[in-house]
Amino acid sequence: MPSNESKLTVVGAGLVGSLLSLYLARRGHTVEVLERRPDMRREALDAGRSINLAISTRGLHALRQVGLEEEALKHAIPMRGRVIHPVQGELAYQPYGKDDSQHINSLSRGWLNRFLMTQAEATGRVRIRFRQRVTHADAAAGTLTVQDEATGETREVRDTVVFGTDGSGSAVRQAMQPRPDFQATQETLGHGYKELTIPPGPGGSFQMEKHALHIWPRGSFMLIALPNEDGSFTCTLFLPWQGPVSFDSLKTPQALEDFFQERFPDAKALIPGLVEEFFARPTGHMVTVKCAPWRVGGRTLLLGDAAHAIVPFFGQGMNCGFEDCAVLDGLLESQADWEETFSAFERRRKTNADAIADMAVENFIEMRDSTGDPRFLLEKGVEKVLLNAFPGEFVSRYPLVSFSRVPYRLAYEVGAIAGGIVSELSRGLTRPEDVDLDAAAKLIRGRLTPFMKEH
Ligand code: FAD
Repeated sequence: MPSNESKLTVVGAGLVGSLLSLYLARRGHTVEVLERRPDMRREALDAGRSINLAISTRGLHALRQVGLEEEALKHAIPMRGRVIHPVQGELAYQPYGKDDSQHINSLSRGWLNRFLMTQAEATGRVRIRFRQRVTHADAAAGTLTVQDEATGETREVRDTVVFGTDGSGSAVRQAMQPRPDFQATQETLGHGYKELTIPPGPGGSFQMEKHALHIWPRGSFMLIALPNEDGSFTCTLFLPWQGPVSFDSLKTPQALEDFFQERFPDAKALIPGLVEEFFARPTGHMVTVKCAPWRVGGRTLLLGDAAHAIVPFFGQGMNCGFEDCAVLDGLLESQADWEETFSAFERRRKTNADAIADMAVENFIEMRDSTGDPRFLLEKGVEKVLLNAFPGEFVSRYPLVSFSRVPYRLAYEVGAIAGGIVSELSRGLTRPEDVDLDAAAKLIRGRLTPFMKEH
């Protein structure tokens, strides 16, 4: 195990940095965390990138390892499937798993971040210093240049082991940029997002199905909504930045109202603050960051969004970052020093982070486009029949990503084979229950079982 004599500095007390510092403290390390924002437990702050988020098996497992899963689940709302809202007509329901036990959970980002910071500090080994912005890092030397946001003064932290958990725009990552062996790509999605609110109904009731993630798929754009504990829903509108239907085209209250009336009439009726919120709230960017290496010797390591920011359409960014913390913790037990630990961590995680990044982009297309398509609905139905008819033999991408902890890369590859089998069996079908189970058994045992055995 790496020595706990080392000075450790975590940059960023977001979701991943807060959880990481807790993990490190439990291993006996003393940790200083530098966070550029004020303390959100004392000052009303926008919690960050979204108001609520979906936590699933990987994130929950990481919380369980440090004894926090139960408390987190008390504040979470299970979402058992998707409710699809067409422009007109009946809502459609698509369960996420083989039954209701497989669900994802909606959780307030602000609550979770505050909770994790408090739990980290409660170990007595973590000190979080707020309004401390890292402006530069010497990743090889373990030196950080830090600006105090209150006084403007700059100081240096030296001889420290640096954990860069400062999010998708990471200053620690940027400081690694000039290194000859370092490569990074940053792809910004052509879409932005805007959050809107469906308030609670009378007596704090939910105005739509509570235990679901709601989707209004509309081809090149979409609206989604996740439930909150107080009976409200946070809606997120994903829209191209430019083009005929885009943020650029919605410049006036009238244009916005007409657009919602035409494309999301049922949602419009539930969002009384549509115009005010739309024009007052910021429009968010989404980016995929891939970079390597994530480490410099035994001095600096990137984790969470700083190493692998992904677009939010699989609900896995935080889950993946939390899994980083659990994996690193496991390695601390078996590795001799920081350098070995960091190197083993990158070997384990990089390919998996790349896989979920790609799946997240693909899921965007599925959510905005295919969820409303009858062919897609049929294939989802067939998939469910197969999951139930061949338990332990047939597996598919969504459950592997959201309800298991198999490496993302494996989920990606198995998911592709399973998807091919479903498409083949769905050809010519009109009802999922008519799927040919004998043909299915042959395909599954011929293609999927050997692959699973190899891994
Ligand atoms: P961040 O949450 O970005 O935290 C970084 C922290 O570092 C911040 O506190 C910041 O103030 C601080 N910091 C930044 N720069 C500096 C600096 N120079 N010095 C000091 N401190 C600094 N993931 C899911 O798993 N499920 C979801 O449902 C989900 N939904 C999402 C919806 C949207 C719209 C978006 C945009 C993302 C969503 N994500 C979701 C992804 C998730 O938000 C991120 O993966 C997660 O926040 C990453 O955590 P992090 O701690 O690595 O980074």
